[in-house]
Amino acid sequence: MFNISAEAKTAIYILEAAGYKAYLAGGCVRDLIMGSEPHDWDIATSAEPFTTREIFEKAGYRTVCTGISHGTVTAVINKVNLEITTFRQETGYSDHRRPDSVMFVKSPEEDVKRRDFTINGILYNPSEGILDYNGGIEDIKNGIIRCIGDPDKRFSEDALRIMRAMRFASALGFTIEKETSDSMIRNRNLLNEISMERKAAELTKLLLGKDVKFILYEYSSVLTSVIPEIRHMIGFEQNNPHHCYDVWIHTIEAVAAVPADPVLRLTMLLHDIGKPDSCTMDSYGINHFFRHPGRSASMARNILSYLRYPGDVIDKVCTLITYHDYRFYPDRKNVKKLLNRIGEECFRLLLEVRRADISAQNPDYSKEKFELIEETRRVLEEVIEENQCFSLKDLKISGKDLLESGFSQGKHLGYVLDILLNMVINEEIPNERDILLENAQKIKKRAD
Ligand code: ATP
Ligand code: MG
Repeated sequence: MFNISAEAKTAIYILEAAGYKAYLAGGCVRDLIMGSEPHDWDIATSAEPFTTREIFEKAGYRTVCTGISHGTVTAVINKVNLEITTFRQETGYSDHRRPDSVMFVKSPEEDVKRRDFTINGILYNPSEGILDYNGGIEDIKNGIIRCIGDPDKRFSEDALRIMRAMRFASALGFTIEKETSDSMIRNRNLLNEISMERKAAELTKLLLGKDVKFILYEYSSVLTSVIPEIRHMIGFEQNNPHHCYDVWIHTIEAVAAVPADPVLRLTMLLHDIGKPDSCTMDSYGINHFFRHPGRSASMARNILSYLRYPGDVIDKVCTLITYHDYRFYPDRKNVKKLLNRIGEECFRLLLEVRRADISAQNPDYSKEKFELIEETRRVLEEVIEENQCFSLKDLKISGKDLLESGFSQGKHLGYVLDILLNMVINEEIPNERDILLENAQKIKKRAD
């Protein structure tokens, strides 16, 4: 009935031939039913982990003990990794994140009870077809996220499920069933027990989802359990003619307006987080947020660091936040200056950030702002197309050339190169070796 991968078919066949039950389980079955292509194939089986290993090794396949105590063995078939997990029950959960113990069971129905949502609790294999003990297919049809069993109990077992519900709703465009939803909000503080890495992984997926806007509106309170600093943005009025939303609503609209890329979505989520702290009111009652980009960038660095995002993601997000309010001057010199400061990749991302930020502001003023962005984009393309020099690596001479032309070793070599680069960027001199060396000598003479 479904188009399943040859490797998954082989794995199921091998387990069945050895006398065990084996089914596709979790995300791949959900994806198959929804008509999308699964990105991996997880298998649930009645065979216990060491037996699974033996069966696959005997059939000539390599296995890896991924999490044998939890029942998971990875079998490698045609270089594809398949996670094969023994049917299990979980008990304990005294820390709200991990079961104190797992117990292997024989029935697939028992296994499914430990899974989070009905849409993730469907089993399938080619010989038996679909096994759906919890109404998962109906919920997929109606676009509903619903806990298997009692939501309060399920979220208190593993609070990460609260964020998983938001993530699936955002990614699949589903709504969260009322009891599940109420319970998520009630139990949100249990997220304090969950590791930052697990929360960050779900946060990123949630932000990339097509329904991110709706989820951020509905579950702001849950998000503040993960990033408490967000609380200050909620309901913070901007009182400024350029704005038509409070800081948090503006943030949500800006997140949804930017392309679905992790760096861009995180940037929009945090770009104004320093606004409440930077607010001053003038004598006309208008609010101003002087230097809020710097404040937001430093708060974002702290937040993304405690969430354990990788350093390169943090650096890009913070650069974009620092420049998010930057006024573009769409002429070549200014474009090259900004390129020199943030590089081509961040420049391109910044254009997206500016566009999203403006589209979440008062539309009365947005036309000229959008035009400025497009004009800047045109100049950027021109500068890149023409291979214009905007960084030291593009400069036609290096420190070595300066040494060869009579300069002594030292820090001043860098200063001289910087002065020359600025002259080239400002189009005072062309980027030509002889002219650069000639000007280097002039700088030297002036300094001597
Ligand atoms: P994705 O497409 O993102 O991989 P998925 O549903 O496969 O979605 P995984 O995190 O890969 O999500 O988990 C595989 C399956 O394991 C889930 O479908 C679900 O049945 C179960 N599962 C995963 N995490 C949990 C959890 N925290 N609590 C209960 N069941 C879980
Ligand atoms: Mg998966």
